[in-house]
Amino acid sequence: MKITNIRLRHLSGTMEVDGPFFEDRLLQPTDIYEEFRENRRQIGNRGSQVDDKIFNVEQTFVQIDTDEGVSGICAGGFAGMNWHVWQLKDLLIGRDPLATEFLWDIMHRTSVHGRQGEPMMAISAIDNALWDLKGKWLGKPVYMLIGGPCRKTMPAYASMLGHNVTDMGLVRERATMVKERGFTAQKWFFRHGPMSGHEGLVKNIEMVKTLRETVGPEIDIMLDCWQSMDVNYVVKLASAIEEYQPRWIEEVAMPDRIDSYRKIRDKVNIPVSGAEHEYTRWGFKRFMDAEAVDIIQPDLNWAGGLSEVLKISAMATAYDLITIAHQGVTPVGMAWSASQSPDPHPIRRDATQARRTGLPLRQEQRPDARQRQPNRLRRTWLWLRDRR
Ligand SMILES: [Mg+2]
Repeated sequence: MKITNIRLRHLSGTMEVDGPFFEDRLLQPTDIYEEFRENRRQIGNRGSQVDDKIFNVEQTFVQIDTDEGVSGICAGGFAGMNWHVWQLKDLLIGRDPLATEFLWDIMHRTSVHGRQGEPMMAISAIDNALWDLKGKWLGKPVYMLIGGPCRKTMPAYASMLGHNVTDMGLVRERATMVKERGFTAQKWFFRHGPMSGHEGLVKNIEMVKTLRETVGPEIDIMLDCWQSMDVNYVVKLASAIEEYQPRWIEEVAMPDRIDSYRKIRDKVNIPVSGAEHEYTRWGFKRFMDAEAVDIIQPDLNWAGGLSEVLKISAMATAYDLITIAHQGVTPVGMAWSASQSPDPHPIRRDATQARRTGLPLRQEQRPDARQRQPNRLRRTWLWLRDRR
């Protein structure tokens, strides 16, 4: 079997929503500048609000075709990766698509100026599409090819990205809604950082206090700083919210500031997670060697694809670290989670924007899953169905 073509397929569609899909945006690194702080635009949005009832969704997929008629497909990262997919096309045409390890290695060795960021998103999408192709060719779900079933169910947390976190009435309403839907864990995003001074700090603390008072002691609360804080601020914030017992505090500083992560981890009493914007085993090794985090969060569509995240997570077990994949809700994320030990990989992310659609939590909301429907979600647990 040989690769005959690599294509980018852009899909757009609409979904019904109840009001703004993104009520507000999360804290961002550029918020140190006032002009950005007041801007409500969120980095990386792949869609737009049409009106109060309709949200337009956009997504590009990488498709790999073969002379045997079988194709592999994977949703890509951000649009900047598309050019890099085209750059890699000539390298891959005519080669055996089942040789995933070889193909990853030559893509990486060829991309000497693109070992991170959008070039690595391109390698990730191609790698994941190759795994999809391999599963289809062999007639097995991908999780059966990378270790087989390691558990029958997986706990999932609800990511609350896009919710208004400045109106405590809304925070209470949404936290209750997600709890009632059956999620035993919820991740919320701070809106304020060091640039918002004492007033913003008080609002951040109020959000965490409100969440704990609303959901009670048995629900896990995770808090994402989206790489937009610094050592002194996080230490101050963490000391004020540790009484509310967050499960973890996430991405406390920009990804290259590993020393800041280490200093924060040394000083706070909340587990520190991070590195969703890090790439490849060599990038993650820097976090591991520095003992900078308790939990690593490689993104299966960014960090190098399934082939690379398997290596990263295996390496993490030798450092006694927990791996919780970013974008675990994707088909490749579910394959990875299902095949990994629940000890170092205890929970997966899910249902990021199921909140204001008024729809039940279903994979069908995702264009890729609508096409393939590999799984279904019942409350907080995901049952994996064979593709045969
Ligand atoms: Mg995050």
